[in-house]
Amino acid sequence: MAAQFMVTHNLDALLERFRRYAEVHGPVRGDDGVVRFSALIPGILPDLSAVRTLLPPKKYLLHPQETILSYTEKDGYQAPEEDVRPLILFGLHPCDLAGINYLDQIFMGDDPDPLYAARRSAQTLIGISCIPDEFCSCHLAISPLKPLSDLFFHHVEGGFAVASSTPRGEELLESAKDILEELNVIIPEDARRFFGQTASMRVRPELDVALPEWQELADRCLGCGACSLCCPTCYCFDVLEFSGLDGCSAERVRRWDNCLFKSHAQVAGGMSFRKDRAERFRYRYRHKYCGFGPLQGIPSCVGCGRCRVVCPAGLDLRPLAMRLEGACRE
Ligand code: SF4
Ligand code: SF4
Repeated sequence: MAAQFMVTHNLDALLERFRRYAEVHGPVRGDDGVVRFSALIPGILPDLSAVRTLLPPKKYLLHPQETILSYTEKDGYQAPEEDVRPLILFGLHPCDLAGINYLDQIFMGDDPDPLYAARRSAQTLIGISCIPDEFCSCHLAISPLKPLSDLFFHHVEGGFAVASSTPRGEELLESAKDILEELNVIIPEDARRFFGQTASMRVRPELDVALPEWQELADRCLGCGACSLCCPTCYCFDVLEFSGLDGCSAERVRRWDNCLFKSHAQVAGGMSFRKDRAERFRYRYRHKYCGFGPLQGIPSCVGCGRCRVVCPAGLDLRPLAMRLEGACRE
């Protein structure tokens, strides 16, 4: 794969060019030491050494809480009209890009979610290569999801090899051609290893039903939901309706929900599809490693490692996944 070369100290100038097109966001380390995706305003450079942000970029596509329908006596039912502005997301690791690919398949399928689709089409994705740490599992990944990006930066000696893969990425490169060098750098093989993983699981649901490990894991799990909150492919939401105090208006709100919460599978009449924690734990595992619904057979774990970093009980599903992967694979 041929690419252009940019020396590291030109990063600030490059971001300045990108800001002419759109607001640019990337990983920024706060005073508390936590790395979050936030605005790369002039003078703020992304922390490109960070292995992961606290929350994945899904927060730009699915807001933690948002109104999806409102009602007033005068106007009747109204869908929200959001002022969606162009946004460039810079410094996305391949796992997060693959996570966006997964969310696209959920929210941009036959019946696209209008809020998601509007935000997604206004976004330009710029990826960057990274080196996995002990929490990552991208290098062992079983996901067939390709990381989607408009532009991709590969770390190479002294700077970055930059390659575009869409007309939008090409346009951004063109805007910065005076700070790029036409060196036709060859991207090293190991820097490309995250692209185009092809292995996929064959799901055989009967294999994991009676494992004693579910109860052992559930006994240690606190049910806090942090693992799901920080996961780039967890998208469960709840829909709530609130009436206004004036008695003639109302709002329908969508907000992030969590399959580890007891309330998640509760339905009218106090019934629950997954009453105990072991069942909820297994449900999450099945979604992450075997896929379900229209994406059955496509694991949604992209190996970012966030769930392992944040879990206060130190739980790690990888050993169990590997054991079952052998059993699931044909
Ligand atoms: S399950 Fe864990 S490692 Fe896999 S994508 Fe979600 S947060 Fe990342
Ligand atoms: S982060 Fe750990 S303790 Fe909290 S719900 Fe997830 S597995 Fe359980």
